[in-house]
Amino acid sequence: MHEVSICKAILDLLAKKKAEKNYSKIYSVTVEVGEFQLVVKEALSLAFEVLTKETEFEKTKLVQKIVPALAVCKDCGEKQERQNLYSECKKCGSFSFEMLSGMELKISKMEVET
Ligand SMILES: [Zn+2]
Repeated sequence: MHEVSICKAILDLLAKKKAEKNYSKIYSVTVEVGEFQLVVKEALSLAFEVLTKETEFEKTKLVQKIVPALAVCKDCGEKQERQNLYSECKKCGSFSFEMLSGMELKISKMEVET
């Protein structure tokens, strides 16, 4: 399952931050997940629940924010949301894009006890 590996990446980040800053507890973590990571929210929540069981993050709450996939057309410069990687430019029909967002996977907020 795709979400399990994404969840593992999040937990790695969490463990690293916790060690780095010496937090004693992490109450909640907000992650920004790009639309093109193709994450199913429920599956990620479930993976988080399973993977944190009986670990230091068992009580940590996972908040997910889905970041829409935005791109700029390389041919006409039109900025637009893309539904999938294979859709064409809504203005000129080009398939040449530069992605602005939609691929991210990062922690944007944490509630901690120091
Ligand atoms: Zn275009």
